Amino acid sequence: MRPQDILLPVAAGLCCKPGGFHIDPVRPVERAVITHGHSDHARPGHGAVLATHETLDMMRLRYGENFAGSTQAIRYGEELRLGDVTVTFHPAGHVLGSAQIAVSCGGTCIVASGDYKDAHDPTCTPFELVPCDVFITEATFGLPVFRHGDAAGEVDKLLASVKLFPERAHLVGAYSLGKAQRLIALLREVGYDAPIYLHGAMEKITNYYVGRGVPLGELRAVKGVKKADLAGTITLAPPSATSDIWTRRFPDPVTAFASGWMRVRARARQRGVELPLVISDHADWDGLTKTIKATGAGEVWVTHGQEDALVHWCTAQGLRARPLDLVGYGDEDGDAALASSEAAEA
Ligand SMILES: [Zn+2]
Repeated sequence: MRPQDILLPVAAGLCCKPGGFHIDPVRPVERAVITHGHSDHARPGHGAVLATHETLDMMRLRYGENFAGSTQAIRYGEELRLGDVTVTFHPAGHVLGSAQIAVSCGGTCIVASGDYKDAHDPTCTPFELVPCDVFITEATFGLPVFRHGDAAGEVDKLLASVKLFPERAHLVGAYSLGKAQRLIALLREVGYDAPIYLHGAMEKITNYYVGRGVPLGELRAVKGVKKADLAGTITLAPPSATSDIWTRRFPDPVTAFASGWMRVRARARQRGVELPLVISDHADWDGLTKTIKATGAGEVWVTHGQEDALVHWCTAQGLRARPLDLVGYGDEDGDAALASSEAAEA
């Protein structure tokens, strides 16, 4: 069977005709199979949704109980027959509950990896390599300039600044699903045990992580805390909140931003970020190319991000490769529009 007979990009997303479903559809469909809880992948209004328990919970938290006609939870490694195909979910290492979806039919296996990273993250199951014939990869940071380095080094940078400016507050912009919890966990890993303050938009999802057994130490709502009491503390907020009037409640705040985009100095300057922290929940260039090679796939489909460079790299490696040209995936980690929609959530 040709891969394009199994999965085909259509306006609603990646369509699996023989299985009767779409992966991460951007429009309402009868049957959706969803990789993870970020709002550009997990949208409300589908008939039936198949996803991990955590992804379903995150959709429930965001959209309410009736976000889909019906839901079905699947565990990592569990095999499920849908129409003429077999589907399995595997950890993507991106956020809690995130999954790569392997679709097998007639001896051909295609892995739709959604968003993924191969870097250390104490808040979710590590990325699992799934050998396949066709690998569908994201390309958010698909340029050789993107090398994220070690997140622990960035956390050290933040703590050094907190030590250097005990009279100032540290206000860290971080996306509220995944990035914020990972940053907190990384701070705890290096022994930072002071309370960490949260913007209101962070509370629900962070409490959910804690409820799922991710230890994050003492967390406090920043709301209602006196300005003077925030000196020397760390507060996490959605990126857009760190540049608005809300910051006036902090004493002389040092503004930080945790994102893979912080590798680009101009972006940090543009946003008025004093302390850029290169921490990403997506694979960097080395992670992408290493993973593609390791899957053993002879064919690679590249989507959302810097498709061209990665397609070019694959072709140079003797792999068949093409951009998927799917629209509607401005990732939460890279899209300003989504950043402001997160602030609206607050
Ligand atoms: Zn994502």
